[in-house]
Amino acid sequence: MAVFAALWSSADPAPERELPDRELADQIVALTKVRTRELRLPPEILSLYLHDTWRSRRKINQGWMIWAAAVNAACIVFDPFIAPPELVPYAVAARASVSVALVAAAFAMSFASRPGIEGKLTIAVCVFAYAIAGLSCLTAGPELLERYVIQAIFLGGTAVMASRIAWRDTVALTAVALLMQTIFLALPPASVLSTAEKLQAIVFFDIGLIGLALAKGITEQLHYRVFVLGMSDRLQLRAIAEINGRLHATARTDPLTGVANRRHFEEALEELRRLGGPVGLVMFDIDHFKLLNDALGHRAGDRCLTAVAGLLKSGLREGLDLLARIGGEEFVALLPGVSSAEALQVAERIRAAVEARALPNPGGIDGVVTVSAGVSALDADRLDRLLGRADAALYEAKSAGRNQVRLARSAPGRRAA
Ligand code: GH3
Ligand code: MG
Ligand code: MG
Repeated sequence: MAVFAALWSSADPAPERELPDRELADQIVALTKVRTRELRLPPEILSLYLHDTWRSRRKINQGWMIWAAAVNAACIVFDPFIAPPELVPYAVAARASVSVALVAAAFAMSFASRPGIEGKLTIAVCVFAYAIAGLSCLTAGPELLERYVIQAIFLGGTAVMASRIAWRDTVALTAVALLMQTIFLALPPASVLSTAEKLQAIVFFDIGLIGLALAKGITEQLHYRVFVLGMSDRLQLRAIAEINGRLHATARTDPLTGVANRRHFEEALEELRRLGGPVGLVMFDIDHFKLLNDALGHRAGDRCLTAVAGLLKSGLREGLDLLARIGGEEFVALLPGVSSAEALQVAERIRAAVEARALPNPGGIDGVVTVSAGVSALDADRLDRLLGRADAALYEAKSAGRNQVRLARSAPGRRAA
C-alpha cells in the first residue's frame, strides 16, 4: 500500500492553475470557435495545456505503467510451463526486467516536477520492452517469438492508446515502435515463419499500430477541445470578477477626490459594529468654502476639495483608518480602536497641517483654507450615535470661530476609553 501511496503522491506541490495573460487569453477564446478537427494549439497554448493537465496525465501514465507491469508479471507464472526447461531462468529474468522497468518509470514520474518527462519515460520503457523481447528471440531461440515479440507489440499498442503524453511524443513512440516491431518480426529465421507469414505479421501489426496512433490523434484533439473550452470559461469568470471588482470599487469611491464615499463609510461602520471595540470618528468641514467658490470659481473649489482630501488622508494610518467624503465639503475619518483623546490629537494635527499648507481662500480666515472638526469616540455597539455626536461637536467648533477642533460632550452611559 505504501508503494502505491508513494506513486500517487508527488514530490512537487500542486501546480498553480495560473490564468494566461490578456493576449494569450484572446487567442484561447478565438480557438473555441475553431472546429475540433482543425484545432491546432500554438506553442505557448500547447505548453499551457501540458502544464494545466500535467497532474492528471501523470496519474494516467503511471496507471498504464503499473497495469502493464502487472499484466507482464502475471505471465511469469506460465513461462516455466511454456519455455524449454533450460531457458526458463532466462525467460523469467527477461520478463521480470520489463515489469521492474515499468514500475521504476512510474516511480520516476512521481518525482518529476514538470511536464516533458512522461513522454520520454513512456518511450524508454517501450523501447526496453521491445529490445528485451527481440533480444530474447535472437539469443534464446525463435520459440519465444510469438509470445515475446507479440506481447511487446501489444504493450506498445496500449502505450500509444492509453498513455497521455504530448502528441509529438506519441508520434515519436509510434515511429520507434513501428521500427522495432518491423525489425523483430522480420528477423527470426525462415524456419519458424515463412516470408509470407512474416510479411503478413508486419503488415497487420504496423497498420494496426498506425490506426491506433490516428485514433489517439483524434482523442487528443478532443482533449484540446475540452481544455480550450474549460480555459475560456475560467477566463470569462476572471473577466466578470474583474468587472465586478471595478464596479464595486467605483460604487464605493467619491469620483472627485478618490476617497471613500458615504456608502463605503456606512459599510465600514457596519463592519466595525460587527467586530466590536472602540471607534473614534472625526468629522471635518472646510471653513467658508462657499466664499472660496464665489471668489475663485467652482473649478478652483474642486481642486481645493481634492487637495484637502489628500491632506486629511496623509494624517491618518494607512490601511487602518478610513477617510470618506460624506457631503459637499464634509469629510469623516473613521479610526478603529482609537479613544476620544487619541482621536482629538489626530484631528488637531490634521487641522494644523491644513492651515500650514496655506491653500488660498480669499474669504477664509487669514485668506487661507482651514478646517473645523468635531470628534467623538464610542464603543462599537453604539456607533449609530457616533456621527450625530461628532456633528454636534463640529457645530460647536464652527460657532466658536472655526479653524478649531471640539470633542463631543460626554454621553450618558458608557464611553470608549
Ligand atoms: P462653513 O464655514 O459654515 O462651513 O461655511 P461654508 O461656506 O463652507 O458652508 P456652506 O454649507 O455655506 O457652503 C458649502 C458650499 O460647498 C456650497 C456648495 O456650493 C459647495 N460645494 C458643495 N459641493 C461642492 C463640490 O463638489 N465642488 C465645489 N466646488 N463646491 C461644492
Ligand atoms: Mg463648510
Ligand atoms: Mg458643510
